[in-house]
Amino acid sequence: MANSQLDPAKAFPIGFDVVKSTELDSDMAVDREILEFEDEMRKWRHALHRHPETAFQEVETSRFVAARLDEMGIPYTAGLAHTGIVAQLGNGQGPKIALRADMDALDIQEATDLRYASEVEGKMHACGHDGHTTMLLGAAGVLSRKRDLPGTVYLIFQPAEEFEAGARKMIEEGLFERFPVSAVFGLHNWPGLAVGRAAVSSGPVMAGSGTFEITVAGKGTHAGMPQTGTDQILAAARLIENAQGIVSREINPGEAAAVSFTKIHGGTAFNVIPETVHLAGTIRALSDPTLADIRERLEHHAGIVGRQFGVEVTLSYTPGYPATFNDPRYAALARSAAGAVLEDRHIDEQSPASMGSEDFAFMLAQRPGAYIWLGAGTDRAGLHSPHYDFNDDLLPIGVAYWVKLAELALRQEP
Ligand SMILES: [Zn+2]
Ligand SMILES: [Zn+2]
Repeated sequence: MANSQLDPAKAFPIGFDVVKSTELDSDMAVDREILEFEDEMRKWRHALHRHPETAFQEVETSRFVAARLDEMGIPYTAGLAHTGIVAQLGNGQGPKIALRADMDALDIQEATDLRYASEVEGKMHACGHDGHTTMLLGAAGVLSRKRDLPGTVYLIFQPAEEFEAGARKMIEEGLFERFPVSAVFGLHNWPGLAVGRAAVSSGPVMAGSGTFEITVAGKGTHAGMPQTGTDQILAAARLIENAQGIVSREINPGEAAAVSFTKIHGGTAFNVIPETVHLAGTIRALSDPTLADIRERLEHHAGIVGRQFGVEVTLSYTPGYPATFNDPRYAALARSAAGAVLEDRHIDEQSPASMGSEDFAFMLAQRPGAYIWLGAGTDRAGLHSPHYDFNDDLLPIGVAYWVKLAELALRQEP
């Protein structure tokens, strides 16, 4: 889950019953061999939590993953996208699929008093990627004991999910040529959804995004004599207002999208109309064509306002992550795997997509697959909160899901 201060409670305004995890525990199908891993996994998770590392600097994290794989006797390739690792289970023959975990932390000062709180000033695992990495390591341990694996499972430990697009960099460095899988799967822990539940949707699940910066420049002047110059403040205000018509009036109401201005800077005095005003913000949409359409319309509105006010409006756009899209066939497979672990009645298939974005989208743009949310509890701090902590109760659930998914996927793949 990338670069958004998401409030998970708001991401799920409706739809989920609050079910106490203790009520669900007895119904979970988690093998004894996975539960035996639990204590060790907690230790791994806490060790990772103490030492958060951000985009492409996950050097110690990567070493930690490699050391655990060495202990388990699992072969791997290190150094993809600097700190990425791909482990191999199975002999490289038969059907091939990939499971992916992200490893990076955030530039946030931790505000918990956990005994394993971050020891790095200004950095913390506030999105649970320490837990994701641990669950994939746990799955590596369990799957490596299965001698009858009917194919090959690659485990992708990915850097730089939050920003700088680590998934894209791994792909650019030949991820899917070197490890030619037919499908790829990801997951995220999800505060706001009860432990023991999962959300698995078909189609778009997270938004594509981009950011923009706009400069409105003209002839500043005395505030009491506006006729002697151009008004950059008023032009900026008009542009902000007009841009709100893009989502409400110009695109299909059936498409989910957002245009948000998040910065506005201009002026230094009460009595001067400034020469420049700077604006910035983000656009989001659940489909890449809609995102491209919104970008074009924003540029169009910038041009109109520029002409209307006789000012120069320049817009620079930076693409973010594409929309995350679950292939229907693999979403069904993920649903079966999650249902086998958590019971079908605890799997939500109709949850609304999140307007946050996720760089696993780059992998899903290359290979079909599915990305699911595992409930992390309804009483937990949200993702990217300085009070957040990954819920360790998810560790065995996540491993059980990965193992079940790998078994089902290898059986159905050609
Ligand atoms: Zn995140
Ligand atoms: Zn995340």
